[in-house]
Amino acid sequence: MKHYKIALIKGDGIGPEIIDEAVKVLDAVSAKEDFEIAYNEYLMGGIAIDVKGEPLPDDTIKGSLGSDAVLFGAIGGEKWDTLPREKRPESGLLKLRKSLGVFANLRPTTVYDELINASTLKPDVIKGVDLLVVRELIGGIYFGQPRANEGNRAYNTMVYEKDEIVRIAHIAFLAARKRSKKVCSVDKSNVLEVSQLWRDTVQEVAKEYKDIELSHMYIDNAAMQLIRNPKQFDVILTSNLFGDILSDEASMIGGSIGLLPSASVGGKVGVYEPIHGSAPDIARQGIANPIATILSAAMMLRFSLNEVRAAERIEAAVKDVLKDGYRTKDLSQFGAKEVCSTSEMGSIIADRVSKI
Ligand code: NAD
Repeated sequence: MKHYKIALIKGDGIGPEIIDEAVKVLDAVSAKEDFEIAYNEYLMGGIAIDVKGEPLPDDTIKGSLGSDAVLFGAIGGEKWDTLPREKRPESGLLKLRKSLGVFANLRPTTVYDELINASTLKPDVIKGVDLLVVRELIGGIYFGQPRANEGNRAYNTMVYEKDEIVRIAHIAFLAARKRSKKVCSVDKSNVLEVSQLWRDTVQEVAKEYKDIELSHMYIDNAAMQLIRNPKQFDVILTSNLFGDILSDEASMIGGSIGLLPSASVGGKVGVYEPIHGSAPDIARQGIANPIATILSAAMMLRFSLNEVRAAERIEAAVKDVLKDGYRTKDLSQFGAKEVCSTSEMGSIIADRVSKI
């Protein structure tokens, strides 16, 4: 029997509710497989500020580093929005990513046939979309120095070292190899020097992947193409800021932000989280959709624990449950046979996992 140690960071808002459901599903799948999971909870975000006075306490970093993976809910809320930037919940998350060295953020977008009408885009535009955004996560303008707000003048620095581009490019090409063998690298090299280095470097790395078709697109065009014809994309490779924007845009192709998982990998320990935030507007009402977090747990099984069959069981259970018409409130207008609470949805998926 294998034993894994998972750091749970529930965070704020709906974070605790959705993580509880992911744990339910993980327990169901581990009961069917040859492994056991021990969970340790750590604080980050607003809750950590309230309890410990800082958004990312040292024991959260230490506990995460000592685990096989981190499963994270979401952080943030109005209560902490007036704090200085470095004391806010979001700075805790940026610091965690940096401390663990997770430079590659993988965000898959899948369209479920049963939810094809949930997207604001026309069904024939999105049917069959299956794309992966590979976003550089710990460099670029979010971290570049110098940065300052001097009152009448403010600035940030978009900077990439060549080796930062090389390592994220390898992740994209390797991912494409397991998919449809296409990488589209998105930049703004017609205007930005940093993007020219990005493009030249990606081209250089591509020489090692002759089986992968590489194309380049400017970010403004990519934002448009993603809505015009998302099926043209397989893997989108891009920098931190552009990836942040494009992956949220891509999320709407799938219909609900409550469905989409993410993995942040490449460092010492992987971090797995839904792409949405802490949704304070629906917290503690039992209506949040836990599927994005449950699918993030599946990504954790696949990428950090190498428990591929367990990951597939969860993904199949989610598909089945959606096919059977179970919906949380966010998707209740789209083919719902039964509208369920956050906790009911977790239990139904866990039950299905046990039967697959
Ligand atoms: P959000 O993603 O929290 O919510 C946007 C909208 O989507 C809301 O109407 C919300 O109710 C809905 N929604 C989100 N997740 C849902 C789910 N699982 N089920 C059903 N509906 C869901 O974004 P926001 O409102 O811009 O931000 C709220 C807080 O979250 C802010 O403090 C922000 O900084 C923070 N945030 C955190 C993260 C993170 O922790 N990684 C990411 C983005 C935003």
